[in-house]
Amino acid sequence: MPATVYAPGGKIEPFLDHSITRHFLSDAGGLDQGGKIIAEYVWIGGSGADLRSKSRTLNKVPSKPEDLPTWNYDGSSTGQAPGEDSEVYLVPRNIFRDPFRGGDNILVLCDAYEPPRALPDGTVSDIVPIPTNTRAACAEAMEKAEAEEPWFGIEQEYTLLNALTKWPLGWPDNGYPAPQGPYYCSAGAGCAIGRDIADVHYKMCLFAGVNISGVNAEVMPAQWEYQVGPCVGIDGGDHMWMSRYIMYRIGEIFNVEVSFDPKPIPGDWNGAGGHVNYSNNDTRAAGTGWDAIKEQIAKLEKRHAVHIASYGEGNERRLTGKHETSSMESFSWGVANRGCSIRVGRMTGYYEDRRPASNLDPYVVTRLLVETTLLM
Ligand code: ADP
Ligand code: MN
Ligand code: MN
Ligand code: MN
Ligand code: MN
Repeated sequence: MPATVYAPGGKIEPFLDHSITRHFLSDAGGLDQGGKIIAEYVWIGGSGADLRSKSRTLNKVPSKPEDLPTWNYDGSSTGQAPGEDSEVYLVPRNIFRDPFRGGDNILVLCDAYEPPRALPDGTVSDIVPIPTNTRAACAEAMEKAEAEEPWFGIEQEYTLLNALTKWPLGWPDNGYPAPQGPYYCSAGAGCAIGRDIADVHYKMCLFAGVNISGVNAEVMPAQWEYQVGPCVGIDGGDHMWMSRYIMYRIGEIFNVEVSFDPKPIPGDWNGAGGHVNYSNNDTRAAGTGWDAIKEQIAKLEKRHAVHIASYGEGNERRLTGKHETSSMESFSWGVANRGCSIRVGRMTGYYEDRRPASNLDPYVVTRLLVETTLLM
């Protein structure tokens, strides 16, 4: 028996009836938990893009991450540790409400560390971040720049794919829909494909406490965007990663694959970006903000190569200079120009780095922005 039933209409039948699960999990008719709560510990896996999680029972609701126990996992199963020394430590960093289980249950964003080691002098070493832990360095930079109050608003574009065929949701089998034009911010069957997913995600993020600020259908059919922010400092990365975890989990329910690839369909179809809108006390200052923005952009121009190398795997397939992108090779900026590396709004006090791809690591990009503009 195949796990999925592929109907000729291009629809994948989910292989589980989720209304049954939802009944037992919901507040109405749901099962009580005997006074306990469930914490889902979430972390970034070995590819630097996959998200992993596991659950544990707690006796009471924690009020801050420090109230939660440090935990561990088998790093050899996530490509993050050798089999003979596989233990990786999970340190709770940020707590969200769990929109899947509801109630007082929580999602806990964690980062990962090598366990403490016995030292020759009989003491025990500190835990150190594992190589794929990009949060630790980001948190350090954000702490140094704290007085500047960096804010981030990240635009997450993504593409919905038929989980079996890997072809965009709602596209004709072995074919293409009508050319781009009618889809961006659209309404209507065949135009706004997969809105249920975008909308369920929106509500779930609000419930969870993810600082989601909007949603829109994108230029390519089956492509959507949501924005997270403005978030202060490390929250930019934390909220973005948790929003992605929630999106993957919704994909499970609908049996739809969520792709963060920067150019899912080659050719005359828009790629997927992860624009990062950025401001700090200097850029937001009345009167002097515009000059501060120009100074910061001059610093960014000098470090273009450093930034572009860390702005997402496969970004060269997207940053071609076409489809509302700038070329990867050159740095440019402009007011209201969507073909630039950096777009500035004259009156807004922030600017938009349009270079990051949809699969950006927000910890890396927000750290680089702060380092280049405030810490060098
Ligand atoms: P676009 O016009 O490029 O599509 P969006 O409206 O999709 O822009 O996203 C803009 C993002 O910028 C939002 O996430 C918003 O919260 C964020 N933002 C707004 N003001 C600021 C600010 N002062 N600093 C940083 N980000 C901001
Ligand atoms: Mn086990
Ligand atoms: Mn946008
Ligand atoms: Mn967009
Ligand atoms: Mn944008």
